[in-house]
Amino acid sequence: MKKYQLFICVLLSFWALSTTVQAQNGDQILDGIGETGLIARYVFDGDAKDWSRNNLHGKIEDVKAKFVNDEQFGTVLSLPADSKAYVSIPGDGLIGEESLSISGWIYLRSAQKGQRFFDFGKNVNSHLFFAPAGTEKEGIQTEVATETGVKYNTKAPALETGKWSHVAVVINIPSKLISTYVNGVLVSETRNAALDLAKLFDYNSAEKNILYIGKSLSEENIYLNAKLHDFRIYRVPLTDKQITRIYNNALKEGQEEESGEEQIADLPKFPKTTPQLYNQFLKSVSEVKVETVLGTLPKLPTYIKGVYTNGIEGPEVRVIWPSPKDNSDVLKSGQYTITGSISGTDLKPKAIVNVKEAKESATPERKLEVFKLDQVVLNAYHEGHQTKFIENRDKFLTTLATTDPDSFLYMFRNAFGQEQPKEAEPLGVWDTQETKLRGHATGHYLTAIAQAYASTGYDKTLQANFANKMEYMVNTLYQLAQLSGKQKEAGGKFVSDPTAVPPGPGKATYDSDLSPEGIRTDYQNWGKGFISAYPPDQFIMLENGATYGGQKTQIWAPYYTLHKILAGLMDVYEVSRNEKALETAKGMGDWVYARMKKLPTETLISMWNRYIAGEFGGMNEAMARLYRITKDPHYLEVAQLFDNIKVFYGDANHSHGLAKNVDTFRGLHANQHIPQIMGALEMYRDSNTPDYYRIADNFWYKTVNDYMYSIGGVAGARNPVNAECFISQPATIYENGFSSGGQNETCATYNMLKLTGDLFLYDQRAELMDYYERGLYNHILSSVAENSPANTYHVPLRPGSVKQFGNAHMTGFTCCNGTAIESNTKFQNSIYFKSADSNALYVNLYVPSTLNWTEKNITVEQTTDFPNEDFTKLTIKGNGKFDLKVRVPHWAAKGFFVKINGKSEKIKAQPGSYLTLNRKWKDGDVIELRMPFQFHLEPVMDQQNIASLFYGPILLAAQETEPLKDWRKVTLDVKDISKSIQGDPKKLQFIIDGVTYKPFYETYGRHSVYLDITLK
Ligand SMILES: [Zn+2]
Repeated sequence: MKKYQLFICVLLSFWALSTTVQAQNGDQILDGIGETGLIARYVFDGDAKDWSRNNLHGKIEDVKAKFVNDEQFGTVLSLPADSKAYVSIPGDGLIGEESLSISGWIYLRSAQKGQRFFDFGKNVNSHLFFAPAGTEKEGIQTEVATETGVKYNTKAPALETGKWSHVAVVINIPSKLISTYVNGVLVSETRNAALDLAKLFDYNSAEKNILYIGKSLSEENIYLNAKLHDFRIYRVPLTDKQITRIYNNALKEGQEEESGEEQIADLPKFPKTTPQLYNQFLKSVSEVKVETVLGTLPKLPTYIKGVYTNGIEGPEVRVIWPSPKDNSDVLKSGQYTITGSISGTDLKPKAIVNVKEAKESATPERKLEVFKLDQVVLNAYHEGHQTKFIENRDKFLTTLATTDPDSFLYMFRNAFGQEQPKEAEPLGVWDTQETKLRGHATGHYLTAIAQAYASTGYDKTLQANFANKMEYMVNTLYQLAQLSGKQKEAGGKFVSDPTAVPPGPGKATYDSDLSPEGIRTDYQNWGKGFISAYPPDQFIMLENGATYGGQKTQIWAPYYTLHKILAGLMDVYEVSRNEKALETAKGMGDWVYARMKKLPTETLISMWNRYIAGEFGGMNEAMARLYRITKDPHYLEVAQLFDNIKVFYGDANHSHGLAKNVDTFRGLHANQHIPQIMGALEMYRDSNTPDYYRIADNFWYKTVNDYMYSIGGVAGARNPVNAECFISQPATIYENGFSSGGQNETCATYNMLKLTGDLFLYDQRAELMDYYERGLYNHILSSVAENSPANTYHVPLRPGSVKQFGNAHMTGFTCCNGTAIESNTKFQNSIYFKSADSNALYVNLYVPSTLNWTEKNITVEQTTDFPNEDFTKLTIKGNGKFDLKVRVPHWAAKGFFVKINGKSEKIKAQPGSYLTLNRKWKDGDVIELRMPFQFHLEPVMDQQNIASLFYGPILLAAQETEPLKDWRKVTLDVKDISKSIQGDPKKLQFIIDGVTYKPFYETYGRHSVYLDITLK
């Protein structure tokens, strides 16, 4: 295989930090296209394996198909004449995609008509094919036909025989284009092709989609006579430039590309000097003054009060401040000025910064505690109909109850060479035999069943089901872990020292081969305490420098997977006190400690900054928690070895980093890093090191202000080209975000909510729970299918996007399917918090529920139809004195009204704060809270006319009927946008210009979450 120069997004942020940082290879970006855009890739250099992480391995049919040596590309696949050789690809590959690009190299040997390079579809009436020498017609032919009789053809001169040609076909659904390229050049194009891939392929049953390379779907077949190399399927419509680049790079044998990054300018552009939305009426903004201490960058306000013309009451103005990559601006005491910008205007807002030679201010203590899951019960709405929370929870609980634990144990038993129980079926997706992440779903599953067990006190049968599952899972994992590093048979050799694990039997070196033939199962040599769904090799290879990828010399993310398993074991322990769960976690904690304490700091820095390979989830959190549970200091020590030194402290000397409020995470993989920050906060709790708190607090503020989409998601970069990364520069979502491969990876928001709730326990800033509410309703609640627990990976927000849901039967998990079974089994966990001294109760969310505050012998019942009404009622049962702290949301700008026992209270409530109601509460006291909703807009920071419409906390999505290329244009009344909107607040359904708007969490078809808004 040719040597590709693969670039990674971490590189972008680190070349500025240190000249000694080496470019690190990973499989993330290939030919300038991020891996999140890739569905499958077959290099055909010896097998038909899918090189992507999606495991869509092909199958070569007919023995006459051979791998041959080729001058141009080395080993290639040959489908010879007079054979019936072809390649078939699993049908799931094309399900749920918005657009499609197919590219590949073909060496055509015969000019015979009727040959197919590829033919993908349901049958001959609904398919997409490419015929290199034409069918009945002359010339190459790309045809797309659907069962409704729509047929599109593009034609060009036939491919030349006797030489390699690069072919690409792009079906761009929003642009309605079908384009064919030969050797990087567009040769044919069909415009106005109104297509829907959901009609072309079967989106409900994968097996009904037939994907052939080298063969037609029709019965009378003329098999392809050709050589094949590097066949790829993308889920994004590739651009001319990208196709030319794929073509050119393949021909530059051995040469390294200068830059792997390519920014795609495929969103509508607006002049940079045209003020948009409220900014067109903006006259000036006030100057701000801030203080900071030596070495720490100032925390600047994101919004500043503006002065508008014509008596218009505009909102606070979004200011974009420069974002230095180090702290050199604040290394001297004294004053300096920072000049910011305001999108579309030439206003230059100023911040005068006073750098003081003082100590950093103290970090807060953890003052609040969460309630246990069984202390809060979700209730129905007034008239008995279910809330979206209960609806979604029950979809998950019902399906979880039917799962077979043996599926989740399958790869563990496989790794330990144990026999499978009868009828045990392995999971699919990222837990298959050869997937290097196998076991990750098992960790999520342990957490989910633990939460389900704790939450189902209202249904003893269901609860017993989850209790049995927990016990069975833990017993099996414990038994397997007991085998590791111990003598197998009398006199047999074994290795109990985790640092002395040898390569597998008969192998010269460590490898990640998990194939049935290649996997090692010599658990007696794995070191005491080891538990995973694969042998220890991936952990060892990471230490030795292995990168992320599909080869046997590469790994996925061993510590990421381990984090899920350890967190799951501890979750089970905490709800059931099953000592075997804790013992298993401790055993593996000891194994990790033994290996990691030996590693030099440089090795750790290299490991934790290796794209995906070094993704460790929240291992620091898990280890610190294990310390908190066991009080064994080894675990805290090992937790600290997971410090992401570059991100936390800038460099090995701790010069700056997040601890000093420097944004060191721009361009990085979002979900690789958010859990590390949660871990930092957990370590602050256990070690009381103030920097850990600052890291978490600074990260949160930056992420929510500079990287967040309106639903609360934070990933989705167009630059770097990776839908899972943070954008390359803060506060440039329009310029660098809205990746065509999707945005808002759902597991990242799961983690953001966890971080947010945890931060609030230290610092009771209402903005934290405002964010929590946003992400909970508009992303997490919006990420589940209508009639099943299927759920989203990315949630795309480009014009006319549609959500794609997967894993309805819990048989194959991605990362996001994993966090979904956790999110949906713990909705009640953040509605209420209590102060650690039990003197205060925080009401964070307005969700119908009952709190049993057992410590105080108080029950609080919350009755409401929120958000279908702007009102909630809290009824107190029992007597006691405590502060009742209720959240006054940031969006409650029309007031916040309180009645106690029917009598209006004279209060002053600031939007974005907590209001304290203090008294000696008596049994039967009733507190009524009303917070009128209003419409408001949330613009993209660097393109203000592109904005989302909210009604109170609820994001409203325009219901679209077809794919869109441009943003939906909407004109609203500048003085009062509600004048332009009709509808029914109780149903949360509205109409603008004849188009329906519904809550995003009730949107299952095409939608526009962002609109192009003009104010008049
Ligand atoms: Zn994910």
